[in-house]
Amino acid sequence: MNACFVTLTKIKYDKMFKAMNIDDMKGSNVKSVVETEKVKCLIVGSGPAGYTAAIYAARANLSPVMFEGLQPGGQLTTTTEVENFPGYPKGITGPEMMEELKAQAVRFGTDVRWGFATKVDFSGAVHKVWIDENKVIESEVVILATGATAKYLGIDDEQKYAGSGVSACATCDGFFYRGKDVAVVGGGDTAIEEAIYLAGLVNKVYLIVRRNELRASKVMQDRVLKVKNVEVLWEHQTKGLTGDGVVEGAILWKKKGTPEEEEVTIKIDGFFLAIGHKPNSDFVKDFIETDEVGYIKTIPGSSKTNVAGVFACGDVQDSIYRQAVTAAGSGCMAAIDAERYLSEKHSN
Ligand SMILES: Cc1cc2nc3c(=O)[nH]c(=O)nc-3n(C[C@H](O)[C@H](O)[C@H](O)COP(=O)(O)OP(=O)(O)OC[C@H]3O[C@@H](n4cnc5c(N)ncnc54)[C@H](O)[C@@H]3O)c2cc1C
Repeated sequence: MNACFVTLTKIKYDKMFKAMNIDDMKGSNVKSVVETEKVKCLIVGSGPAGYTAAIYAARANLSPVMFEGLQPGGQLTTTTEVENFPGYPKGITGPEMMEELKAQAVRFGTDVRWGFATKVDFSGAVHKVWIDENKVIESEVVILATGATAKYLGIDDEQKYAGSGVSACATCDGFFYRGKDVAVVGGGDTAIEEAIYLAGLVNKVYLIVRRNELRASKVMQDRVLKVKNVEVLWEHQTKGLTGDGVVEGAILWKKKGTPEEEEVTIKIDGFFLAIGHKPNSDFVKDFIETDEVGYIKTIPGSSKTNVAGVFACGDVQDSIYRQAVTAAGSGCMAAIDAERYLSEKHSN
């Protein structure tokens, strides 16, 4: 993963949010809209879900217009090797793969544009989406493919070693650490799942848990405590990472802030964050149902949201799998659902 890219993306996001004051824009004080454009099919987001939706929508004559957001190509542009997407037997880098998806979408006529959705109005028959501060797109169908962002601890070393030992996806990167020692940070169900998954690949897993108990369900707790090569480090927090270019160890605080506080070091090659994700759904929350974390709720077996003509695909609606191939699969579903919605609507 390119650490510089991650940093720049974050800076861009921070600046943009500050400049736009998105909270203010939720109210009625948006005065600077200068242009309205009508389109048939709007796709928000340019990760594997958005591009797959675009390929299908374009081939179904829906003339999709896509807004890429601040991370054109999505999360995969922050990683190096992708080895688990079908069709690439030798693997491919994330940025290259996303260029190929984009080329395929453009080949069939997708209109890919720079722009960031800040606000929506899904109360009428035609859906409105505000792009940046200066444009309203009116569309009969909207496909939300805005992904999710992994949460990090916020320590400098996470960025320093991003892609060089730090990962937020065990399923994606665990394979690279076969036979080595790694640490997983977190105490919830996801952290336990990731620790158990990694335990099947690596030599040893340290599970770094801030409290003296796990937040995970009882079943998951019982499962992980039985795995021989998982050692739970109770009441530990990460102070920093060490290593010459790649992660070689972690410095931890044990019982931080108590009289028994002490510093502990562990030798590891991989440091996996499993403290949750934030779905990029804030801008639709006034109209679209989400779960308590912010994942968009879709009708099981479909990409349909609670609003007719608005569909969701990829990580923004998937708290479980969060893989490029599942995102792409659900992007296909969203385009097919959108096409069927339009043809039914116009046949009446
Ligand atoms: C470091 C890393 C490595 C990974 N490695 C693998 C791997 O090897 N294999 C694998 O299968 N998966 C991997 N994944 C997971 C995979 O990247 C995701 O599951 C996948 O990218 C999700 O696709 P998506 O299209 O739903 O969303 P994303 O890829 O997150 O794309 C979201 C898109 O929405 C846009 N967006 C967000 N908000 C807005 C807005 N308001 N307006 C307009 N656009 C917006 C963004 O700019 C972006 O283009 C990895 C993830 C990471 C972070």
